[in-house]
Amino acid sequence: MKILQSVMDQVIKRNPNEPEFHQAVKEVLESLEPVAERHPEWVSAGIFDRIVEPERQIIFRVPWVDDNGKVHVNRGFRVQFNSAIGPYKGGLRFHPSVNLGIIKFLGFEQIFKNSLTGLPIGGGKGGSDFDPKGKSDAEVMRFCQSFMTELSRHIGPDTDVPAGDIGVGGREIGYMYGQYKRLNNDFTGVLTGKGLTWGGSLARTEATGYGLCYFMDEAMKAKGKSFRGSTVIISGSGNVAIYATEKAQQLGANVVALSDSNGYIYDPEGIKLDTVKRIKEVERKRISEYIKYHPNATYTEGCSGIWTIKCDIALPCATQNEIDEKSARILVENGCFAVGEGANMPSTPEAINVFLENKLIFGPAKAANAGGVATSALEMSQNSMRYSWTFEEVDAKLKNIMINIYKSASSAAKEYGDEDNLVMGANIAGFLKVANAMYAQGIAY
Ligand code: GLU
Repeated sequence: MKILQSVMDQVIKRNPNEPEFHQAVKEVLESLEPVAERHPEWVSAGIFDRIVEPERQIIFRVPWVDDNGKVHVNRGFRVQFNSAIGPYKGGLRFHPSVNLGIIKFLGFEQIFKNSLTGLPIGGGKGGSDFDPKGKSDAEVMRFCQSFMTELSRHIGPDTDVPAGDIGVGGREIGYMYGQYKRLNNDFTGVLTGKGLTWGGSLARTEATGYGLCYFMDEAMKAKGKSFRGSTVIISGSGNVAIYATEKAQQLGANVVALSDSNGYIYDPEGIKLDTVKRIKEVERKRISEYIKYHPNATYTEGCSGIWTIKCDIALPCATQNEIDEKSARILVENGCFAVGEGANMPSTPEAINVFLENKLIFGPAKAANAGGVATSALEMSQNSMRYSWTFEEVDAKLKNIMINIYKSASSAAKEYGDEDNLVMGANIAGFLKVANAMYAQGIAY
């Protein structure tokens, strides 16, 4: 990096102890160096310095009472990163690992991802270090209500529209939506991922996983490959992993492994998705339960071993930095030809280098997992129209959006001289639209 090194230095200096945020910014700035060369007017208007600084960061106390009457205090976050092309949009993550740096990395990535969808949504992210695991429904409800009591002051259907992420699904969105409505006396599209009888969109639940497969299908088609007859490993067993498995199976793949934060299951005959859905979506239990129903499958403690299973296609759908350089090398040695990121930033920078050097078809998260937020934007449109599209209509729009994201990322990569590098292509294509909007809107004094 030459022109943009000073921007990176400032990010590190101003945001100490936020390694994930540094990692996300560094990857984007490295891709944008040739853009900075072509656009000196953006450099002098401080576009690069401004885009790495959130417009607003909110940190708040979330007190709640457990079933035994004990008081707990968690920390809530909402980072409103960039509103140049639309209201802030991005999920809420409830996980003990959440801190400001994690939310900032996610919010920063969301700017480019949302831009890539072609829809009018800015970038934001939020969450809490609350751990929903092992909590009763009543405890989760009280936590969500307390969280929304503060968050409600900062959001709105034309201001900031949160949704789900790790630890936040339909149940949590329901409790938060109920509380927002009580406080504001407004039935409005302030959250996405809502239930189907109260403003949710058909296909939103499936969208991230389906979208990932639509994106990878298009990227693979360009190289004469496909899901049909391929062996696929998918990490995670949450919403993204489950619906990526469903779509990959529909497209003719054999999905042989899934995981959770404790370990992974391997079923060489193919994952039985009904069992996984029952364990994860209904019973809210661990993935290890799977072998009770399918004794031919195996369960192994620990997560990284999943990448040692021989496969053609790997879809990391669990969490950040789950594939390191070592795992990436094993995947390549085992003949894996495509990696599509369903989670946010699941590959370390070293792992990405291994994939690019070995010419794998690599779908970076910002592009490959944008189907979730894209369908959230479709939910916002339906809410504004007070109208609902059918499943087929939403699914067709989603597919079209994912194909267009692939086309924009691959043509930007080509235009900027690194054909097939979809990391660079996605970063540049996502950035250009936001930079244009920021430039046109002037500098806020
Ligand atoms: N959390 C998802 C993401 O990482 C979805 C966000 C949304 O629907 O707003 O993009």
